Amino acid sequence: MRIAIYGNDNKMSSQVASKLSELINKSNVLELDELNPEVVISVGGDGTLLSAFHHYDDLMEKVRYVGIHTGHLGFYTDWRDNEVKQLVASLEHDNGQSVSYPLLSIEIKYSDGGRPDYMVALNESTVKKLFGTMVAKVYIKDQLFESFRGDGLCISTPTGSTAYNKSVGGAIISPEFNAVQVAEMASINNRVFRTIGSPIIIPPTESITIVPKVSLHNVLTCDQLLVMDRPIESITYRISKRRIYFAKYRHTNFWKRVSNSFIGSSIND
Ligand code: NAP
Repeated sequence: MRIAIYGNDNKMSSQVASKLSELINKSNVLELDELNPEVVISVGGDGTLLSAFHHYDDLMEKVRYVGIHTGHLGFYTDWRDNEVKQLVASLEHDNGQSVSYPLLSIEIKYSDGGRPDYMVALNESTVKKLFGTMVAKVYIKDQLFESFRGDGLCISTPTGSTAYNKSVGGAIISPEFNAVQVAEMASINNRVFRTIGSPIIIPPTESITIVPKVSLHNVLTCDQLLVMDRPIESITYRISKRRIYFAKYRHTNFWKRVSNSFIGSSIND
């Protein structure tokens, strides 16, 4: 089986990646292949897995991911840095087992009339304005829903719901749901301006279109990536037809992860 190792540049991750390469090189059934892998092992944190996902986005539905964390337990990282041997043994006995999660599809149309861009996010996409208030019309299923004024909007996947979305007051959604969530970032609500004021969640049959008032200061993010050099006419979000696959050699319950990450030891108090 062909394996790629994708690590961040911290010292611990480099050591884990070297140990992993050494064990893979010794194996009779595994080989390192950075260009055409079947399994991508990310070594670092959730941020590293996000980078690995975008690095290998051409192979999205052909690869399965495995995350080793070299810091704290993450949402995309199931293995600890001291479990490299057990992971290699699981890879050697791989029988294609996987679990998949929904992704966010993003269609960006530009005011210059050029070709639209299509992107896919694992965590979320945000639309914001660098300076001043972002003004935008929000459409659900092509029907005008609201006129938004505020810092911006965060559109996230279920696995991304514990990231930026949570910081802006969005709900945590189990990745068993095929859904996309829209959360507001500091909306202006007074007698003149009004938004719904709470996160909304849409199913696979619906889409959200955001039409920002044209400004050179509007920015769009897709996970850790930034799109900001062209004026945006509209962005349409829906649940992608594609999904991300993880090699499932062990299973950490989603709500246990949430509890470990955000509640920790205070659960016993
Ligand atoms: P970063 O600013 O270096 O790290 C952002 C933090 O978010 C890290 O602690 C990361 O965990 C954590 N994280 C990433 N995905 C997560 C998930 N699905 N659930 C829970 N926590 C998660 O940025 P980065 O490493 O390049 O990652 C980009 C992500 O940062 C974006 O997709 C966005 O979700 C998040 N972000 C959050 C805020 C905010 O909360 N105000 C603002 C900007 C961006 P690790 O330490 O394990 O890598």
